[in-house]
Amino acid sequence: MARQFFVGGNFKMNGSLASIKKIIDDLNNANLDGKTEVVVAPPALYLLSVQKLLNAPAQVSAQNAFTEASGAFTGEISPNQLKDADVHWVILGHSERRALFGDSDKLVADKVKAAVGAGLSVIACIGETLEERENGTTKQVVERQLDAIANVIQPEDWKKIVIAYEPVWAIGTGKVATVQQAQDTHADIRAWLEKKISKEAAETTRIIYGGSVNAKNAPELAGAPDIDGFLVGGASLKPEFIDICRVKA
Ligand code: PEP
Repeated sequence: MARQFFVGGNFKMNGSLASIKKIIDDLNNANLDGKTEVVVAPPALYLLSVQKLLNAPAQVSAQNAFTEASGAFTGEISPNQLKDADVHWVILGHSERRALFGDSDKLVADKVKAAVGAGLSVIACIGETLEERENGTTKQVVERQLDAIANVIQPEDWKKIVIAYEPVWAIGTGKVATVQQAQDTHADIRAWLEKKISKEAAETTRIIYGGSVNAKNAPELAGAPDIDGFLVGGASLKPEFIDICRVKA
C-alpha cells in the first residue's frame, strides 16, 4: 500500500492574526490537490480562526496537548477539547517541548496515549541531539523514544500516528541532515516498527523528516524511499511552504 505523502507546517510561537491569515489565504489560493496530506499547526490561540479560514483538504493541528481530559491544569489544552473543537491532529514530543518544557519520554508517551484515546491523530516527534549523533547513539535514542510510546499504546494505535524524525541539531539551524543520514534513520525506524509492532505498521506508518527543510532541499529528501513527508518549521511561515507541499506533484 502506498503511503500518502504528508507535509506538516509547525508555526511554533510565531505570527499574528494578520500574518497567519495571509499564510492561510496563500495556502487556499494554491488549490492543493489533496495528493499530499497537508496539516498546519498555528499557536493554540489561532487554532479556531485558522480552522475556519483553511480550505479542505488541508487540516489544522495543535502543537501540544495534555494527558488529562479536563481538570485543574492551568494553561493546558486537553485532547478531548481539541476533538470537541474539530481539531483532529496534534504534534507531540517536539524537541522544543522536550528540551524547554520538560516533556520526558514518559510524558510524551502518556500524551500520545491520551490523544489517540480521544480519537486524535498524532505527529509524534523523535530525534537525537548533536552530541548523541556524534557519539553514535542515534538509533538507540530514537528507539528509546519509540519504545516509551509503544509501552503505553495498543498496536492498532499506530494507524493514528505519523512519526516525525527530527534530529535536534537540524531544527531551526539551517543545518539539514543529508539524504543518506535521514534515509538511514528512517529505515531504522521502519525496521523498529516491523520488529516491535507489525509488518503492517512498518509498511503503512508515515515517517516524515523535520529539520531545516526548505523548497530547495525538499525534492532530494522526498526522493528517499523511507521519507514519507516533512515537518516544516521556519519555511512553513514563508511562501515556499507551498512548493514543499507540492514536492510530490
Ligand atoms: C520543526 O519545528 O519541527 C522544524 C523542523 O523546524 P525547522 O524546519 O525550522 O528546522
